[in-house]
Amino acid sequence: MDKNITKLITQSAIRNVVIGLGATITHDYRKRDLTVVCLLDGSLVFTANLLLQIRIPVNLYSIKVSSYEGKESSGVVKYDGRDLEFCKDKDILLIDDILDSGLTLSTVVNDVKNAGAVSVRTCVLLNKQINRQIDIEPDYKAFDIENEFVVGFGMDYNGLHRNLPYIGVLKG
Ligand code: 5GP
Ligand code: MG
Repeated sequence: MDKNITKLITQSAIRNVVIGLGATITHDYRKRDLTVVCLLDGSLVFTANLLLQIRIPVNLYSIKVSSYEGKESSGVVKYDGRDLEFCKDKDILLIDDILDSGLTLSTVVNDVKNAGAVSVRTCVLLNKQINRQIDIEPDYKAFDIENEFVVGFGMDYNGLHRNLPYIGVLKG
């Protein structure tokens, strides 16, 4: 689709893993009221695909967060959140595209806890363990990847490539 992108994880590999994750989450939350929170924009596609594999009633909310400018983390989580009142007394599952330094998810986890959530877990499409700066591990993850900048399946480079159906690495 784009000669500057090398395929890293195929559409069918993603699909198989997402089916498994959905089954695990369905089982783990079968006795609770699950509230899924999608961290926009990067996890929109992952969240949509995962939701379809969860077989219990789910409430869905979305919040918009960003920390990247181009290929670099800005180090600051921009958090143009709606207020997080909806988290009060809820079992929250935060869905993000990538757990990298950990800044984004740890910030949101803290904010959701402070908003009165009963429980907070995290689910990520990709885990870049090598870049971690903050002590946080995902409760659920689809894939581990090396330290490379990826696009596709919802993830962008300066706004583009989110609509690739697979996960790829940008060359150069
Ligand atoms: P963290 O705060 O953990 O360092 O960064 C997490 C966020 O940075 C992710 O939610 C994602 O939006 C963005 N990010 C980190 N690595 C990549 C990458 O390789 N590609 C893209 N497109 N975004 C990334
Ligand atoms: Mg993100």
